[in-house]
Amino acid sequence: MLGAPGAGKGTQAKMLAVKYSIPHISTGDIFRANIKNGTELGKKAKAFMDQGLLVPDELTCDLVVDRIAQEDCKNGYILDGFPRTIPQAEALDAALKIMGTAIDYAINVDVPDENIVNRMGGRRACVGCGATYHIVYNTPKTADICDACGEKLILRDDDQPETVQKRLTVYHDQTQPLIDYYEKAGVLRTVDGTVDMEDVFAAIVKILGE
Ligand code: ADP
Ligand code: ADP
Ligand code: ZN
Repeated sequence: MLGAPGAGKGTQAKMLAVKYSIPHISTGDIFRANIKNGTELGKKAKAFMDQGLLVPDELTCDLVVDRIAQEDCKNGYILDGFPRTIPQAEALDAALKIMGTAIDYAINVDVPDENIVNRMGGRRACVGCGATYHIVYNTPKTADICDACGEKLILRDDDQPETVQKRLTVYHDQTQPLIDYYEKAGVLRTVDGTVDMEDVFAAIVKILGE
């Protein structure tokens, strides 16, 4: 899943994982779990995430490659938020080549910057299970409480407006070039991410197949 921060990658990836019964691999979720558990990786990653910067490639690539090599990924998987730089994409391609596989599709969820600030400002994340909601577009049954696990919902530190601007700049500089990269590889498919979640989902399923 490619797209700006807040484009809806995670929302779609979770639904796709259920539909196709394959793992949803989110590097953001992996880093947040490490922060919560106070690991060495978590400490290192947090310093970058809090500033709206990307975690360095050397802390990111091996982690994903190890995850993809696990048994539950043998029928496929959805990468959400990885790769985010050209070197990450190259490292992924190299690792997949050794494994004798390749990326089938790079789904670009297209949302203009104007909509992003609104999306991120309204996003609420569960401190327990990481589920995401939106105060207008995807509300929990009880305000500020997770439907799935009953824990509290918060505005992520890096979803504060100043950090969102920084993350958008980082996206345009470092991640957007991947659109060209996957276009050249012949696997890019772009969907309009500004429509309702269910309609974005239907557009992606149309590409991936029933
Ligand atoms: P969003 O869902 O808003 O796109 P993520 O949860 O994917 O945000 O990522 C949160 C933060 O984690 C990023 O701003 C970045 O600091 C870090 N991060 C996540 N994935 C990567 C990656 N592939 N490379 C580098 N940093 C990453
Ligand atoms: P990403 O993983 O790309 O950062 P998320 O999936 O977390 O994005 O979505 C960002 C915010 O926007 C969340 O609050 C989510 O509920 C909301 N959202 C996602 N898709 C849509 C959509 N199609 N329309 C309106 N809001 C959406
Ligand atoms: Zn929860």
